[in-house]
Amino acid sequence: MTSLTLFGGVNEIGGNKFLVESGKTRIFLDFGQSFSLLDDYFVDWLQPRGRFGLKDYFALGLMPQLAGLYNREALDRTNLKHKEPAFDAIFISHPHFDHTAHLQYLHQDIPIYLGETAKTILESTQETTNSFFFSEEPIERRDKTVVPPNDVHSFRTGKKIAIGDLEITPFHVDHSVPGAYGFLVETKDGRLVYSGDLRSHGNKPEMTNEFVKKAVEFEPNLLIIEGTRVSAGEKRKNHTEQIVREGSGKVVDETKGLILAMRYPKDLDRFRSFYELASKKGKTLVISMKTAHLLISLQKDEKLGLPSPLKDKNIRVYAREMKAYKKWEKEMLEHTVDSEWVKDNQKDIIWELDFTQLQELIDVQPKGGVCIHSMSEPFEEDPMSQLQDDVLHNWLDKFSMPHHQLHASGHAAMNEIFGMIDAIKPKKLVPVHTHGCELFPKHLDVEKGKKIEI
Ligand SMILES: [Zn+2]
Ligand SMILES: [Zn+2]
Repeated sequence: MTSLTLFGGVNEIGGNKFLVESGKTRIFLDFGQSFSLLDDYFVDWLQPRGRFGLKDYFALGLMPQLAGLYNREALDRTNLKHKEPAFDAIFISHPHFDHTAHLQYLHQDIPIYLGETAKTILESTQETTNSFFFSEEPIERRDKTVVPPNDVHSFRTGKKIAIGDLEITPFHVDHSVPGAYGFLVETKDGRLVYSGDLRSHGNKPEMTNEFVKKAVEFEPNLLIIEGTRVSAGEKRKNHTEQIVREGSGKVVDETKGLILAMRYPKDLDRFRSFYELASKKGKTLVISMKTAHLLISLQKDEKLGLPSPLKDKNIRVYAREMKAYKKWEKEMLEHTVDSEWVKDNQKDIIWELDFTQLQELIDVQPKGGVCIHSMSEPFEEDPMSQLQDDVLHNWLDKFSMPHHQLHASGHAAMNEIFGMIDAIKPKKLVPVHTHGCELFPKHLDVEKGKKIEI
């Protein structure tokens, strides 16, 4: 028998963690945190105690207590014994946090499979933020014991990977981050397709179209599909990247002062839009050191064709004034500009400023500027953002900067998702990553932790 068990992504947006079991073979598709469960017990500074590994998560039922899945450190303070690995692989659809957050707890001997670009992005994120997903080097702990490295494998689109009784083929899809894939899974009892997160209105719709075509030909018994925008209240226009570019161009033309541009850090399609806009309008794009690090890391992937931030004449890298810099920051420090430079050149700049660094405006004192907010509006895809939105508006009001909302979603619209289902014609349908299950055509009842036969 082959079965599917959902441990996250059920009636919530994100947190995908799906177990596929076939004979003796067990793999996970994605390994994210169930945020809706986490939000029941934690808010703001009240968070699970990191130093206790999975203790708080298990006690509150936030993570499945499965033997042979987690690493020794994660289980140190729990009643679950550390055992030999009982799972064969973890397949990651794309490098967003809601699909990868729990890799940090994974047993070192369970192989991780992810796209080559996805791996580069997670490695860069890991170096420039306080996050940990995996390590390919042994890590020495404070008590001098050594944690063995993870077993990490990267793939490219169309490469079939055999794991025990399963054959998994990743196919690229278009999403708001490069290195995004859906999976076709062949089992002894039938075929399964998992969409990951996807859209058809970004810069590379042909990738999503190819995935859907492969899924149609595959004639799956079961389709797991995302439904972020499947919602009764969904009335927004399906903004494309093209609309964002044109709208932003208009704002730039009408503005005499500093242009703030805010986007999701891993959304490199949006980066490209701002970069091209800056080049076209004779402006300089000012980016963060984190973005520079990511762009430098991705230079090895020529297909992405991203500019090299320290060499490109239309880009400057912004360094905040700090008491001390990390090693990776020091390495690029001599190529950066500071708040004084931005202040002096503010009329000729598009500045990608992160929400958490709005204090920089105090040093720059913008005059006659605007803000292009190129992220979700509150309550759309990110339930925490209403508070942030209020705070952002207060900052912008303080510096008399009008707010322009210009964003193209990373997710396909409701009618597009239903179109894909219509084309793929699965025997069984499992909607995930959505609050709108009831709106989907005939589908299985999805319930966390319940086995579904394929
Ligand atoms: Zn997601
Ligand atoms: Zn995503």
